[in-house]
Amino acid sequence: MSLAELSPDARALALIERMSLDDKIHLVHGHVPVRYEVPPLEHLGVPALKMTDGPSGVNAGGDGAQSTAFPSSLAVAATFDPDLAREQAGAIARELVTHGMNVLLAPNLDIVRHPWWGRATEQYGEDPHLAGRMGEGFVRGAQENGVAACAKHFVGYSQEVGRMHANDIRVDETTLREVFLAPFERVIMVAGVDTVMSSFSRINGIELAEHPLILQVLKGDWGFKGWIMSDYGSLGAGVPAALAGFDQEMPGVLQGDSGAIIELYSGETGKAVVFDAVLKRAVLDGKVSVARLNDMVHRILRTLIARGLFDRHAAPATFDVPSHRAIARKVAAHSLTLLKNSAGTLPFGPIGSLVLIGADADHRTATGGASVVVRSTASISPADGLRAACAERSIRFAFAPGSDRVGPASMLDSPEAIPSSCLQTEQRGGSPGLKAVYTSGGSGPVERVDAQVLLNVGFLSQLMNASALPPPPGNFGDYLQVRWTGWLSAPAAGDYRLALTCMGSARLLVEGHEVLRIDASASPTTAMSQPMTLLPDRALAIEVQYEATAHTNWLELGDVILGWEPPDSAIPPAVAEAVRLAADADAAVVFVHPYESEQRDRATLSLPNGQDRLVRAVAAANPRTIVVVSSGGPVLTPWLEEIAALIQVYHPGQEGGDVLAAALFGDINPSGRLPVTWPASETDVPVARPANDGSPTLIAERTAVGYRGYVATGTVPAFAFGHGLGYAEFAHSNLRVEGSPTTEQGINVVVDVENLGSCDGEDVLQIYQRMPSDRGNFHRLVGFRRIAVPAGARQTACIALTPRDLAFWSETLGRFLIPAGTTELSVGRSALDLTLHESIMIDTPIPI
Ligand code: BGC
Repeated sequence: MSLAELSPDARALALIERMSLDDKIHLVHGHVPVRYEVPPLEHLGVPALKMTDGPSGVNAGGDGAQSTAFPSSLAVAATFDPDLAREQAGAIARELVTHGMNVLLAPNLDIVRHPWWGRATEQYGEDPHLAGRMGEGFVRGAQENGVAACAKHFVGYSQEVGRMHANDIRVDETTLREVFLAPFERVIMVAGVDTVMSSFSRINGIELAEHPLILQVLKGDWGFKGWIMSDYGSLGAGVPAALAGFDQEMPGVLQGDSGAIIELYSGETGKAVVFDAVLKRAVLDGKVSVARLNDMVHRILRTLIARGLFDRHAAPATFDVPSHRAIARKVAAHSLTLLKNSAGTLPFGPIGSLVLIGADADHRTATGGASVVVRSTASISPADGLRAACAERSIRFAFAPGSDRVGPASMLDSPEAIPSSCLQTEQRGGSPGLKAVYTSGGSGPVERVDAQVLLNVGFLSQLMNASALPPPPGNFGDYLQVRWTGWLSAPAAGDYRLALTCMGSARLLVEGHEVLRIDASASPTTAMSQPMTLLPDRALAIEVQYEATAHTNWLELGDVILGWEPPDSAIPPAVAEAVRLAADADAAVVFVHPYESEQRDRATLSLPNGQDRLVRAVAAANPRTIVVVSSGGPVLTPWLEEIAALIQVYHPGQEGGDVLAAALFGDINPSGRLPVTWPASETDVPVARPANDGSPTLIAERTAVGYRGYVATGTVPAFAFGHGLGYAEFAHSNLRVEGSPTTEQGINVVVDVENLGSCDGEDVLQIYQRMPSDRGNFHRLVGFRRIAVPAGARQTACIALTPRDLAFWSETLGRFLIPAGTTELSVGRSALDLTLHESIMIDTPIPI
């Protein structure tokens, strides 16, 4: 019998018998300098492992290959449609194969437990059931297209603060099981995911790299047969990780522009690759058994064989670009979430003119930063989409930026960065902004004009920048000094306070005199001037000198922002121009967004760069003002009452601009639903913001995560989880429950849905289960279904709930259980708008 005819298990065992110790060690770690690879073992026919992020398209690790930029995971979650997650993942997988790769480092299944999280856009939202169902769709789609998916990050990861330093998550067992582990449980037990990636976190004081959860839960309770790899650079010591069940170490190193190897996560943690020489020594010394090493290797080989990766021959050279664009468009169309629509503002009826306002509305690749950045095959910005839609309809179209582009530094807490329209390179004439001279270690001075002093130096801007702002010149990790010079013009007479926010050293000089100074600050610090009376007809010479001094921290080398607190009367020229165009148009669309990325949480949920003032000024000039937010996590909407309509497009991928235009003009009926709650204010958020002082993160809300915390505390958010409007109106009636939770099939929740509107539409039925009285005063999502209902029609939706969906963790029994008593189920339009209720009686507890 040839090897190829054996079962994956037997074939892997047969191979292991032929492998030397070095062959085995070769397979269990990523090989630098190529960061995402394990080279092939050609003498054994073992293919190379080639990995790439990510959840919304192939982030091809810098090889320049183009891929489709699909909507973010959070946008996918907003579709409440696991089949769309599956379709999108299938397309991503086919692209990955054409790029010669075989492991897709997604889906991300971490829970968005607080709204400031920088990586919210990469996740499926705040609810574990939703995250698990969408993740399941993703895994099926990827794996049925011949690539190994990777569920990450196991487990308890939900903040960037302290993430490289094993941030300690203090969590009780029930919360761990029901909230953080639940999505992983589903993709392992139901979808059979091939690989899992650990997080950098500690859980209750123990680093994930050595945590008993891996052997006890992942490989024990769930019987996971694939392999678990480290997040890139997250392993500390080799022997404890191998003994704790880790199967592969992926290294936290990469090659800088100059060719130098950068050990991203070394330094304070001292982390370097340990599953090579260190592990080999440990095996030779008997500290790690040969059986354990064989198990590591067996898991990798068996998975690759079962996924067909040994026998895949030449990869197709191209993928079907148009059909993948169509999938990206379809998912974006189903995710677009209409949050407010006063008096039927949308869709537009006949209009003669439209103005689009927003500094990044013409940015073609707006996504979250870091591993979700994709080199797209095409890209339709909101400006492209609206311009084309207006041209088709003979509508006069105008565009004005109104403010400045946001970038990685916009995630900091600082007074508003001084707008470029109040800065000039020359006293008279010149251009908006300031002249900048950059001097870094490896290169001579580079001169350019920067719109604002809004600079980040490091990982966020130089490696994984998703903004339209140019990164600082020079090599990542270099020494950097910058000097900005030019003129500041106040738009109105009044008292202004100037501000410097920086990490590193900075000085502000006005007319040659030092006004502000920060010396070698290790974390972002703000210095504010006394109020200064400025006059509009008198430009002031300004100079900012900056030096990034945090050379020990490769990830966050520095930031600097020149900001101000202007008087209310100060309307920057760019805002005045937007207002002028808005006053003249039949409708104004204002596109706003924050910047979000791995490596940093957002300092505030408020929009940066004076975008709130811009919205207010435009809304005052045009009663038909529609605000379009493009973000991962929520933003604050202090102008909500002043605008006519509000849309969340998330990070919609490369077709987003076209989808936005189609929704505004009624070619698409919006049907997305929020996967995260939007608070009315930051102080309303029921979860404490993770502290940045190295102290543990206490999961004090326990299972009352996301909307559940709002329900439990009676806090009314701006927009609840599950909320989303459309151009049709749906009525729910006749709720009934069929079947029994004692059978494996579980129950069916059946509801009639009537479309009372005059256009066809899609509704999302959401089923919530009330918590048992001793577990809290809130309810949780246990099922959902998207259903298309033509105008005027009535249809019956059936939502199947398995016994596991209805169960709770019992710490006493160490298993899931449906407790005896009444289980109340409700249908909701959102988590805070439950319309119908029904109860089922459980006579005796049902163990799962
Ligand atoms: C991220 C992972 C990612 C890995 C490789 C890490 O910094 O946390 O999500 O898969 O880098 O890019």
